[in-house]
Amino acid sequence: MQKDFGIHMKGGVITERDPDFTTIRIRAPAGILTIEQLRGIAKIAKKYGSGVVHCTTRQTIEIPHVNPSRLKRLSQQLEKNGTPIGSEKDEVVNIISCPGTERCKYANIDTISLAKRIDERLFGREMPVKMRIALSGCPNSCTSPMLNEIGVIGRIRPVRTPGLCTGCGSCVYYCKEKAIKIRNGISELNEEKCIQCGMCVKSCSFNLLKTAHHHFLITVGGRRGRHPKIGRELLTVETEDQVLFVIGKIIDWVYRRAWSGRLLSEQLDEIHFEKFRNEILKEIPEAGPVKPVNP
Ligand code: SF4
Ligand code: SF4
Ligand code: SF4
Repeated sequence: MQKDFGIHMKGGVITERDPDFTTIRIRAPAGILTIEQLRGIAKIAKKYGSGVVHCTTRQTIEIPHVNPSRLKRLSQQLEKNGTPIGSEKDEVVNIISCPGTERCKYANIDTISLAKRIDERLFGREMPVKMRIALSGCPNSCTSPMLNEIGVIGRIRPVRTPGLCTGCGSCVYYCKEKAIKIRNGISELNEEKCIQCGMCVKSCSFNLLKTAHHHFLITVGGRRGRHPKIGRELLTVETEDQVLFVIGKIIDWVYRRAWSGRLLSEQLDEIHFEKFRNEILKEIPEAGPVKPVNP
């Protein structure tokens, strides 16, 4: 069987259990596809695959059971459809995102537009280790950002307008972290317990809770798989541009300094996470206000 090795070597072309077939993974930044693109994928899957598609954990779509001799034509059709072959090797792979402020009432940040900006800048960059990036609009972390090499979580700090609290207890009820108590008839926040989700702000019918320090928490070194690891809190920044800048610096650091075949989380253990964080912090003075997270 004649294979097209140029395309066959791409990260989104996965040899199946039966090596005479390949599965094609599609690039879908933030997991967003138009209806027209979906129709196009359906036609392509019918023509080149077995008539089914498979939705992946990284918010992409796979077309299984493709004959490798037809890869060139299939690749051209996917390009034309605006859904090119994706990535799943030691590269920056599909950026995933929760609905964020576009649809979710709990969101603190616009995850989808930010995921698309990160994708435009970094998708497919070859790396010594696979780099997965996930964004969540709030600490509920529906996309598990802390189980990715880089995670971004939208947070806010709640601030109570002094002297106006009725002590109704609604914010106490909605805070799942038990970070608020009613003391002397007014609400009192325990900052140590607060994970900055913003639920209490939305729960106050008197509109007495305000948001302050609206920010992005960036985590590094998480992963799923056979040795799952929770990522560590690296720093917080206040704008999307700063997120892009910091992620760019992390990617550059990993490209230059990490070595192949090891989990990034293990490499960070070995060089000591604090050293890594200091090196990253040194590189980003021009990124504006950046706050290290307390270890
Ligand atoms: S992580 Fe937060 S903002 Fe995103 S979908 Fe989940 S609850 Fe909504
Ligand atoms: S921001 Fe979230 S964790 Fe913090 S007090 Fe409000 S509801 Fe509780
Ligand atoms: S919900 Fe508002 S008014 Fe009620 S206790 Fe909380 S801050 Fe006070």
